Amino acid sequence: MSKTVAFSKNSVNVFFHILTQCNLKCSHCYINFDQHGQKTLSLDTISAWLSLFIDNTQNANLILLGGEPTLHPDLDKIIKAARGMGYASITIDTNGYLFHDILHKIAPEDVDFISFSLDGATPATNDAIRGTGCYSQCVSGIQKAVSLGFKTSLIYTVSNENIHELHLMPPLLKKWGVDRFFIQVIGLRGKSRKKSDDSVNKNQKLQADRKTWMTLIPSVAAQAADHGITVTYPKVFLSESEPFECAGLVADNYFIFPNGRVYRCPLCEDYPLHSFEIIDNQLTPKEKINEQDLFALSIPEGCVMNKLVQSSNLSYRADGTPEYKIACCLLKEEVASINL
Ligand code: SF4
Ligand code: SF4
Repeated sequence: MSKTVAFSKNSVNVFFHILTQCNLKCSHCYINFDQHGQKTLSLDTISAWLSLFIDNTQNANLILLGGEPTLHPDLDKIIKAARGMGYASITIDTNGYLFHDILHKIAPEDVDFISFSLDGATPATNDAIRGTGCYSQCVSGIQKAVSLGFKTSLIYTVSNENIHELHLMPPLLKKWGVDRFFIQVIGLRGKSRKKSDDSVNKNQKLQADRKTWMTLIPSVAAQAADHGITVTYPKVFLSESEPFECAGLVADNYFIFPNGRVYRCPLCEDYPLHSFEIIDNQLTPKEKINEQDLFALSIPEGCVMNKLVQSSNLSYRADGTPEYKIACCLLKEEVASINL
């Protein structure tokens, strides 16, 4: 059964980029070194920053990101420190290379999920985006993690370069033993923004159009649920009756970068519009103008940042009114697995 997952008012979601370094050079990478820096944070600094987001009145969920987080030599210690502080759930997002023998330094009960990124059902499609050899490395990483008893998820970032293979994923996920499937829409940030600008010039958009998204994605999600896999995907397009809400106003999400920037909205990450900066291990509000000034703006197209940074997904009637609203990029649809 499919349901919209409203922004939780009782949890804090901490998306922590502990470094920006990566062994890959994916063509759609959203890391922007000019904006996010090139530091690898020390274990002591990461521990100090993690403590800033723990609130005893709410569940705090931690997603450890990079760059490639398994390149951090102390990732196992970071995970154990976060558990010790009371983080309710911990997820590692990885490209599958699993450096520093991480699967043997942590136990399945230390993390809730290891989340693998794969952007094609075949090596040809995935490796054209992520680099030669990435498909086999990622699949072997998933299989190792599953065989050791870790719960796994897979993130497939949909663009017009790989949407044709999305329907091939559910049986593969079942075969590999993956528990959750996150279908993500490509955001036009970092390298994908440049790529999108180039594609628009060639009249080929990177993001899937509304009709394709609204027909294909729910049907692939239903297929995966039939295979016993829980699926989450962004709504992207709102129907007339669905209300628009900005997560920046109603939810507690923090996107932390190693240069100390803390954003509330991922679409702002290409700009110095962050809400906070961590200075001397203290969370310090950033002066205006920042992203919070944008969250409160009400426009007929829905998300303000979407209109500013990726307006190619909008469409207008002859009288100039938008045909639909774009949802907050953090609003998700969840399809529960059908227990087999
Ligand atoms: S694996 Fe992730 S961080 Fe590394 S290049 Fe690819 S998208 Fe960027
Ligand atoms: S994506 Fe749009 S609606 Fe969501 S937090 Fe950012 S500005 Fe707000």
